[in-house]
Amino acid sequence: MSVTQLLLFIVVMVMISPAWGAKDYGLTPKEIAPGTYVLLGQNEHFNFRNGGNIVNTGFIITEKGVIVIDTGPSRLYGEQLRTAIGKITDQPIVKVFNTHLHPDHILGNQAFEDIQIAALPSTIEGIREQGELFNDSMYRLAGAWMAGTRVVLPTQIVKPGVVEMGGHRLRLFEMDGHSHADLVILDETTGVLFAADVVFHGRTPTTPHADVAHWMQALDTVSSLKFKLLVPGHGHVVSDSLPIVQTREYLQWLIDRLSQAAETGQTMAELLQSDAPSSIANLAVFREEYQRSVVHLFPDIEAKALSRGRVEQD
Ligand SMILES: [Zn+2]
Repeated sequence: MSVTQLLLFIVVMVMISPAWGAKDYGLTPKEIAPGTYVLLGQNEHFNFRNGGNIVNTGFIITEKGVIVIDTGPSRLYGEQLRTAIGKITDQPIVKVFNTHLHPDHILGNQAFEDIQIAALPSTIEGIREQGELFNDSMYRLAGAWMAGTRVVLPTQIVKPGVVEMGGHRLRLFEMDGHSHADLVILDETTGVLFAADVVFHGRTPTTPHADVAHWMQALDTVSSLKFKLLVPGHGHVVSDSLPIVQTREYLQWLIDRLSQAAETGQTMAELLQSDAPSSIANLAVFREEYQRSVVHLFPDIEAKALSRGRVEQD
């Protein structure tokens, strides 16, 4: 191969690589129950390869239209989700739910602007306050996949309780702990539980807006529900409670580890070196998420331990 041919080859390879070529998330809806589909994201961090598709979205085809649960990380994802739905059913999309404020769940809203997008009040508030910040940081993390994405606010408030839609009986739960408001949806007709980010499977939970004590309570509620299939916010769909157990085990370990470090006066640098048991260390993106969680949660835990110490000395 001559030098010119080699250069040409490199240019062509760069052009057809995902960073340059036409962006395609390759969304493949998987039917998990009658008329109920899930699109599984990667158990990874946001990056230029996955374009932010690290999240599970879903939809339910009812007799009176399609219900979409979360819209993905970008305008492009939302558009490709809508196209994927259109290939499966002629039914119109009648309702979109945003489970919580995080960008990977809501930045596809733009593709559903003509449809009622519903969310819990604190979720709408959170997106109003922080949506643009999320959008900026997603551009940095996922690059060109985010082109043309802007924040679209939900237009309808979700009230917890039962709603009947086209032959499906949906029970809507208002929880919190992963974020200030986490919408969990149990389709009592099919037994599919959309647990959103209250439940992670095989992936380290994220904590930028977490209240761990509340999150534990939410996990108790989710455990008490009767479901046939559990769709976590991240990770594979299962028919058992393993992801609930995993999420709880991680959060308990995390909070114990941080509290113990605060009580014994460890520094953040020491804490970041921490070794976890293999069941926790083997969760996807453990190292990065653990470090982020230390940064999110430790200052507060440390301040509380210090003020307790001061009270005891007085
Ligand atoms: Zn989240």
